[in-house]
Amino acid sequence: MASAILPFSTDILIIGAGPAGLAAALAAANQSSIITVIDENQAPGGQIWRGGPASWRDERAHDLWRALANCLNVRIVYGVRIVATSADKEFLLETPGGAQKLTWNKLIICSGARELLLPFPGWTLPGVTGAGGLQALIKGGMPVEGKRVAVAGSGPLLLAVAETVIRAGGKVVSIIETKSSQNLIRFFLALLKSHRGKLLQSLKLFWQLKRVRYRHNARVITAHGEQRLLGISLQQGDKKIDLSCDLLACGFGLLPNLEIGTLLGCEIRDGCIVVDTNQASTRADVWVAGEACGIGGVDKALAEGHIAGLAAIGLAAESDAIACRAHARQFADLLKQSFAIDDSLRKLCKSDTLVCRCEDVSARQLREHSDWRTAKLMTRAGMGACQGRICGAACQFMFGWDAPGLRQPVFPTKTSTLAALSGAAGDVEK
Ligand SMILES: Cc1cc2nc3c(=O)[nH]c(=O)nc-3n(C[C@H](O)[C@H](O)[C@H](O)COP(=O)(O)OP(=O)(O)OC[C@H]3O[C@@H](n4cnc5c(N)ncnc54)[C@H](O)[C@@H]3O)c2cc1C
Repeated sequence: MASAILPFSTDILIIGAGPAGLAAALAAANQSSIITVIDENQAPGGQIWRGGPASWRDERAHDLWRALANCLNVRIVYGVRIVATSADKEFLLETPGGAQKLTWNKLIICSGARELLLPFPGWTLPGVTGAGGLQALIKGGMPVEGKRVAVAGSGPLLLAVAETVIRAGGKVVSIIETKSSQNLIRFFLALLKSHRGKLLQSLKLFWQLKRVRYRHNARVITAHGEQRLLGISLQQGDKKIDLSCDLLACGFGLLPNLEIGTLLGCEIRDGCIVVDTNQASTRADVWVAGEACGIGGVDKALAEGHIAGLAAIGLAAESDAIACRAHARQFADLLKQSFAIDDSLRKLCKSDTLVCRCEDVSARQLREHSDWRTAKLMTRAGMGACQGRICGAACQFMFGWDAPGLRQPVFPTKTSTLAALSGAAGDVEK
């Protein structure tokens, strides 16, 4: 099923081998068309099932993988990233073997999400990462045995990350949750009413984390250290608390990866690619599933991937798949309401805090400007390796600026790949 060589063209292209992409591939595989799944990672699984089958603990991942192994019309290609559109229904890819163009008839975007990182004093110190970022590093083999780790931010991902740290031999010094205990009680009561499976999962995690100090209504205000992180100061109510730690993982929320949808001119609303009941985007022959069309977790990704895969081969989804999606989306809405990003986090960033860490631009320098475009032109913010994915999103939250525009290539790219783009479509948005 897996191969390093890409076909030049494919009938159905699926971007992303996470839960949504794998579910879409299986659903679409009913027909004999050639299906190509591509992913920039080196193994299937996306974010939640990162690392491939040997590391999966979720039976649903194994079931999907076993079923896909029997689908001879599905090929999955790893280590390949879409960086641009080179013609109508043609992408330019960066592959280990150089640039390659790939044409498709139908496309399912399952590009997932990334973390929202927010600046606060000390956030650029080595040892400070995103919450999911630390989890990904651990799953990738980073040793944390004996390390003292603080996990901060908001939402259930903090619990999952803390559990990963403990399983890998680290010590979680505290989970620092921004939301108040009343918020959390309301969330758990809503789980009890409509999402008992999720409630059980959370209780199991709390049990596994029973020795960890869980602080609510708290936020990290400073990360201390010179060459690396040595400790943090946090504010809980009106108390200031200092903690020593080696690593700090901050999870402020997730943002859909919109690059491909934007490249293709799909409608984007409220930071997500717009889809209809069949998961179809506003562009013909393009469907979207999973985090890219709304943050909601693995259940939503699986249900939407299944529906999108069927729609791409002209089939309507079964009523139980539609019901699963509705239930998963209801959970996604609950998460959104319960763990909406807290306005107070805007105040964490001080005048001299770096916001654009690629180009060393501070909040003070950015505040002299009224919008992202001017700030970028005058300060070089967003012109480094992240291309505004991190600092642009932070500025959106802190200053209320519009989202940074997107230009091809949408990811930092080798010049040899760029050469293959010559004569291709130009900027998507200036
Ligand atoms: C860092 C991180 C950690 C997370 N950890 C958890 C967790 O522990 N538990 C949990 O319930 N949820 C977690 N989540 C939430 C997670 O997004 C969902 O649970 C689930 O993985 C969503 O599935 P998906 O298929 O929509 O996207 P993903 O699983 O994110 O899969 C998307 C895939 O698309 C690929 N991709 C994107 N753009 C391109 C491109 N241009 N070219 C090639 N490939 C591309 C990516 O490499 C990725 O593998 C995490 C999210 C993030 C961002």
